[in-house]
Amino acid sequence: MSDKVKKEEGSISIHTENIFPIIKKWLYSDKDIFLRELISNAVDAVHKLQNINLVEGLKLADEYKVDVHIDKDAGTLTVTDNGIGMTADEVRKYINQIAFSSAEDFIEKFKNLDDKNQIIGHFGMGFYSAFMVAENVEIRTLSYQKDAEAVHWQCEGTTTYSLESTEKKDRGTEVILHLNEDEKEFLDPANTREVIKKFCNFLPVSISLEGEEVNDKNPLWTKNPTEISDDEYKEFYRKLYPMSADPLFWIHLNIDYPFNLKGIVYFPHLTNEFDVTKSHINLYCNQVFVSDNTPELIPEFLTPLQGCLDAPDLPLNVSRSYLQNEPQVRKIREVISGRVAAKIVDLAKKDREAFEPIWEDIHSFVKYGMMREDKFYEKVKDSVIYHATGDDKFTTLPDYLERAKEKHENKVYYANDEGTQATYLKLFKSQNMEALILDAMIDNHFIQFLESKNTDLKFERVDSDITENLLEADPSQEIVEGADNKTKGEKIEQIFKDGLDIKGLTIRIETLKDDSVPGIILLNEQSRRFKEMSHMMGQGEMPDMFSDHTLMVNTSSPAVEKILKLQDEGSNESAAMLIDQIYDLAMLSHQAISKERMAGFLERSGKLLGML
Ligand code: ADP
Repeated sequence: MSDKVKKEEGSISIHTENIFPIIKKWLYSDKDIFLRELISNAVDAVHKLQNINLVEGLKLADEYKVDVHIDKDAGTLTVTDNGIGMTADEVRKYINQIAFSSAEDFIEKFKNLDDKNQIIGHFGMGFYSAFMVAENVEIRTLSYQKDAEAVHWQCEGTTTYSLESTEKKDRGTEVILHLNEDEKEFLDPANTREVIKKFCNFLPVSISLEGEEVNDKNPLWTKNPTEISDDEYKEFYRKLYPMSADPLFWIHLNIDYPFNLKGIVYFPHLTNEFDVTKSHINLYCNQVFVSDNTPELIPEFLTPLQGCLDAPDLPLNVSRSYLQNEPQVRKIREVISGRVAAKIVDLAKKDREAFEPIWEDIHSFVKYGMMREDKFYEKVKDSVIYHATGDDKFTTLPDYLERAKEKHENKVYYANDEGTQATYLKLFKSQNMEALILDAMIDNHFIQFLESKNTDLKFERVDSDITENLLEADPSQEIVEGADNKTKGEKIEQIFKDGLDIKGLTIRIETLKDDSVPGIILLNEQSRRFKEMSHMMGQGEMPDMFSDHTLMVNTSSPAVEKILKLQDEGSNESAAMLIDQIYDLAMLSHQAISKERMAGFLERSGKLLGML
């Protein structure tokens, strides 16, 4: 079909600027991509042949394959395929003209970008990326076409090339790279294998290095989800992240319309070392690895997601900022957010017991997502569960409110520190009341968010006030003798006011059903939240949460009774000691006692013990 090519030499480009020096320095840190470019060209050539086989009913190969071969002595690395091959004219057109000008376009487009990692994918440099590592590149190729002549092309990293006929029996293309002196690492099979694994691990054509197949031609995401077992999903995960524990759950995406998106994303079992700032999704384009750093593809609140996404329609040869505003990327994010929401709803419904430990790992992300995305909120809101104090179980908010309806309608009591709020939780428990434990960093914001979404709903921390359910319905109003017609409560109040000269302190007298607690500190919910918020907004140091606080004195406590008795007997000093002790104990349970008072507390405790 084609005539013998007499050796010809020519100029690749009419452009005066020589791009080879730029290619050689280009993306030096990521020069490995040349292997991806050459191997995916080889895979494309195989695909083209497969298509022709289909159309023309030919059967030109038993086994389609790409082989990478290393010759240490010659210092060469060769990529061989049994694909479509090229005629001399095609080499002139595709290699000398098209390939060169697209490499040139690429360099031109991104020349001024300081951070080369800003480019997604680096697709576009194509064949000429070989010159990042080789000083001399040869192509030996034989087209599939009948009676085709094999040709040999060569270029030494200048704008001139040579092209001539050669001997080559097997159809396909061989690209031979004579590696630069400082790129000899590619002569090390172990190293080259790593690179092939990274970029070509899931290519759909068999890739072998030194005769040994390296890739997995049919990665799990290309299979039908209904035919995959849980174990297979876990096994695939382990292959991707060998040292990791099993993932919490996964989602298999298999979308053809309105865009193409396939892949499996996993929510990992989170460990402390987990780096939430890094994206953990590998992006592929028709099974060719593109990038492992495309946080744009997943909603910010799902940063921990790992796995593979294959998005063949995405424009990959673009800069980061472009991808951020690309409508299709936004749609991918929406799909992932929607599917994760559906998965959470499903897990919560299907097996609550199995869901609970998962929830412990994911709840902060889910809550954050609810606050960030209204659609996500609407979908998952009924699946959110909370730790409740009652019988140490998880509950949904509607269930909690239903149980509490009689005692406190639309009001949620919560603790955010089971240690410092232990006294209050004990009071709640003794009256069969439940509080929710909301002790994650995000919960403060989440509470405000839920209140804004449900205007009837109020959250109150257990130490913010004393609910009437904890109080005696009818505290005695008895008048105490010799106290100017004062009730017992009024008298106690006066004694405490006189006894405690503390800035910002209010005394309140109540009769608790539980007589074991002489006094507790109350912090108004609104003013506490206000202080926390001003702190969050960066206004100075942590404010003094106790700059105004209430000591609630429990008249049913024997210790308080004792104070009255001591006063009546004229033992004023002992009474004063007890008053201070009650206040300090209440503050201590909040871990809020000052250094000065701590010293006094310890000294007084010693004395009191001596008096017993
Ligand atoms: P791209 O692959 O993006 O088209 P390249 O610069 O990598 O750009 O390649 C340019 C062209 O050269 C390809 O489109 C193809 O026609 C041809 N080509 C490159 N490598 C091979 C190969 N191994 N077999 C057949 N044709 C090839």
